[in-house]
Amino acid sequence: MAQRLSWGMVGGGEGSQIGPAHRLGAQADGLYAFVAGALDADPEKGRAYARSLGIAPDRAYGDWREMLAGERGRDNRIDLVTVATPNATHFEITKGFLEAGFNVLCEKPMTMTVEEGEEIVRVARKSGKVCAVNYCYSAYPMIRQMRAMVAAGDLGAIRCVVANFSHGHHAAGDDAENPRVRWRYDPAQAGVSGQMADCGIHALHLASFILGDEVERLSADFASTVPGRVLEDDAMVSFRTSRGTVGRLWTSTIALGRQHGLDIQIFGETGGLRWASEQPNQVYYHRLGGRVEIIEKGEAGIFPEAARLSRVAIAHPEGFPLAVANIYVDLAAAIRGEATGALPSAEDGLRSMAAVHAAVASAGAQGAWVDARPPMFR
Ligand code: NAD
Repeated sequence: MAQRLSWGMVGGGEGSQIGPAHRLGAQADGLYAFVAGALDADPEKGRAYARSLGIAPDRAYGDWREMLAGERGRDNRIDLVTVATPNATHFEITKGFLEAGFNVLCEKPMTMTVEEGEEIVRVARKSGKVCAVNYCYSAYPMIRQMRAMVAAGDLGAIRCVVANFSHGHHAAGDDAENPRVRWRYDPAQAGVSGQMADCGIHALHLASFILGDEVERLSADFASTVPGRVLEDDAMVSFRTSRGTVGRLWTSTIALGRQHGLDIQIFGETGGLRWASEQPNQVYYHRLGGRVEIIEKGEAGIFPEAARLSRVAIAHPEGFPLAVANIYVDLAAAIRGEATGALPSAEDGLRSMAAVHAAVASAGAQGAWVDARPPMFR
């Protein structure tokens, strides 16, 4: 067995939403030792929390610059750093670590602007290091099954993809004054987009990932339904992929009755597929002329790309932290220069930002169709 890789985190401090999923995910398969961290915006809290998680005092850092300087000079420097801080900080932290020769897993959205995204792609390519983005839903076993079925031609030529990521957790009108919610709709803190940049990009990435295709152009309708919000809390986006597949995306934060409404349907000439993140073990498959079949995670006959990422017995839920673990499995292989599964890349992070900015431009022009590709990929 290869030696464990050493791993550190920036952000993901005590009480954070995504920090625990990274710690569970990175350590699920014994591939990484958690040895360094600058975990919190408050240096003292970050140091104390890192020590409480077993990190040695000299590697429990107060901020990311101190961590970069400390790790850079060590013989046993970390092999991978995860960036799990708020969005606006991703660019400088990711760029800083890549330039210093570290492999990076960055949370989504990778950057705030398309220009920054292009810069990260350039820096990552120049550094020769791995730069991945945590599109963890793409690592659910049954999403890999859908991707493999599409690639194998099980649905025939693909006509249409419909993706949703809608929840109702910001539906309360009086949340306009709640500071934990308010910042998400404030351009000064969230950038050009609210829900599209936060959740829409997950659904759009899934669509591209399953199809093995890219979003080429789009038309968007944005709405801010709660008074006082500047950025959108509901968006409908029509798109076309580079192979001409018709795409539909709905993303919303005011959809009362939906909890974690990430789901996706693929419609081909000879079959259709449906998956929902709240029932991630099953894919519904309808062959033209036949009945709907349920393909279950862990059953015989599923594609090896899906089977390799399933760790617990059939019908037992795996879910979110083990999907993140699957990202870390593929990352470890990439860092070791071995063949990997389909790891979401800096290029994917850039494509998302280009799509977000295209959607903002389109929504501001009454839904005009606009090019959704990053300039460097046109
Ligand atoms: P959060 O506000 O719950 O936690 C952020 C953490 O980062 C806190 O511990 C905070 O103290 C720390 N922090 C802030 N600035 C820092 C700095 N400069 N240096 C070090 N630590 C700092 O946020 P969250 O919901 O965990 O989101 C963090 C990131 O993860 C966001 O970019 C978000 O979009 C992303 N996210 C991704 C998913 C996913 O499915 N991939 C899910 C949730 C969140």
